[in-house]
Amino acid sequence: MIELEHLTKVYGKIRAIDDLSIRIEKNEIFGLLGPNGAGKSTTIKILTTLVKPTGGRARLDDFDVVRDSLEVKKRIGVVPQENNLDRELSAFDNLRIYGLLHHLLELEQKIEEQLRSVGLWERRRDNIQTFSGGMQRRLLIARAALGGPRVLFLDEPTIGLDPQVRREIWNMIRRLKAQGGTVLLTTHYIEEAEALSDRVGILSRGKLIALDTPANLKKMVGEYVVEYLDGEGNQLTRMCASREDAECFLKEAGIEVRRRRSNLEDVFVKLTGGRIEQ
Ligand code: ADP
Repeated sequence: MIELEHLTKVYGKIRAIDDLSIRIEKNEIFGLLGPNGAGKSTTIKILTTLVKPTGGRARLDDFDVVRDSLEVKKRIGVVPQENNLDRELSAFDNLRIYGLLHHLLELEQKIEEQLRSVGLWERRRDNIQTFSGGMQRRLLIARAALGGPRVLFLDEPTIGLDPQVRREIWNMIRRLKAQGGTVLLTTHYIEEAEALSDRVGILSRGKLIALDTPANLKKMVGEYVVEYLDGEGNQLTRMCASREDAECFLKEAGIEVRRRRSNLEDVFVKLTGGRIEQ
């Protein structure tokens, strides 16, 4: 279980995280969604003890991330945004070094389990320089899961990967949850948050602007969307609470229109004003 209470991180004049309070339950996949610069990575860095907060506090299984950082480190696995595997080593040795540094018992067996689960067992002796980007990301996940962490953090786990590899990674994350783990992932891919998360927190400029299940967030903005073109060919959207409302609008509009179910992207655009960069 993870608890953030009034967490704040200030860099000079920038409030990277601004009074963030979130409680993440055991065995939950929690998606932290937000545009670039919203404070997602900073939140993960604080929870994984890499960065100290300016104010407030964060706890993982009742251990404070600043005061009890060693206890926190023992309980977490981290898939960082940047690939920090050792490029000189094989897949097996990358995991072995990690396991030795973390004093893991029955290491060889754990390595085999993880490499099999991410489909890299046959390639275990190969130098990772021969691996594709997707294979390296799978190895990063295997490494993070090696010690059987209680909480797994994934910072933009599928950034830069093609759709098929992205789906493989999603399945791996689902398997980690099925094995009893808690997962906190950050993403700016809306469909990723929607596909994986039990609950989603939307961050904008360091503040939490919404937190709920994807289904409830969609209900909040209207479950149906009518898309239509104005006289100048601009696409406009209208959020509707029900199918009947959408039908009514369709009848009255008398212009080229399309009705569809809302998705998390609609929630995101409505709540953040559609900003991509901050
Ligand atoms: P996200 O992961 O959502 O893209 P970040 O947490 O990386 O956002 O960044 C949040 C804000 O904090 C941004 O404005 C970013 O420029 C700033 N920031 C992050 N790390 C640092 C740092 N080490 N020094 C100064 N500013 C930083």
